[in-house]
Amino acid sequence: MDKKTMYRLTYGLFVLTAAEGEKKNGCIINTAIQQTSEPNRISITVNKQNYTEGMIARTGKFNLSFLDESAPFSVFQHFGFQSGKTTDKFAPTEGIVAKAKEAANGIPYLANCTNAYLSCEVEQTIDLGSHTLFIAAVKDGELLSDLPSMSYAFYQSSVKPKPKKAESTGKVWVCKICGYVYDEAKEGTPFEALPDDWVCPLCKHGKQDFELQQ
Ligand code: FE
Repeated sequence: MDKKTMYRLTYGLFVLTAAEGEKKNGCIINTAIQQTSEPNRISITVNKQNYTEGMIARTGKFNLSFLDESAPFSVFQHFGFQSGKTTDKFAPTEGIVAKAKEAANGIPYLANCTNAYLSCEVEQTIDLGSHTLFIAAVKDGELLSDLPSMSYAFYQSSVKPKPKKAESTGKVWVCKICGYVYDEAKEGTPFEALPDDWVCPLCKHGKQDFELQQ
């Protein structure tokens, strides 16, 4: 099968947040779907590498902020390209994150560059190996702006910086998710010789998400 077939599926982009004791954290996901309307339920799928996944597994609660088309690349860098294991993602005192608010459930949500958020409680948890699927009841929510929701396609076409053509003597591979550049001449190891479980140092996606720069 042509792997590109899967790229034709459409997705939104979301900041998924959780709170556990004093710790508040969040990550970017594209896997939120409404499953039933009566009762109102959604599902989310979260990579177990994300610290937020364990927080939700332990607390059974999360908020989902819907990014709108005004969201800058810095929001994806902040929530997507660093880990809550080593960073306090809600520490910034200025910028979009500083304007995050706390919902009634004690979990933050992004109040800027988002058009809505939901507060949810987990009903079922399904182990998918690399990821966990949470099915959750929607308990609360609020509309925040009238801008269109950001789709994954809009992120790829209009938000993610275009990689600059590298001046290199070797092959250059670019991560299609975050734009990270793997330059074989600099790294010393041919990309195809990297182990199968090698992941992008920035966004932690696998080798299959890299393409050879022409
Ligand atoms: Fe990447």
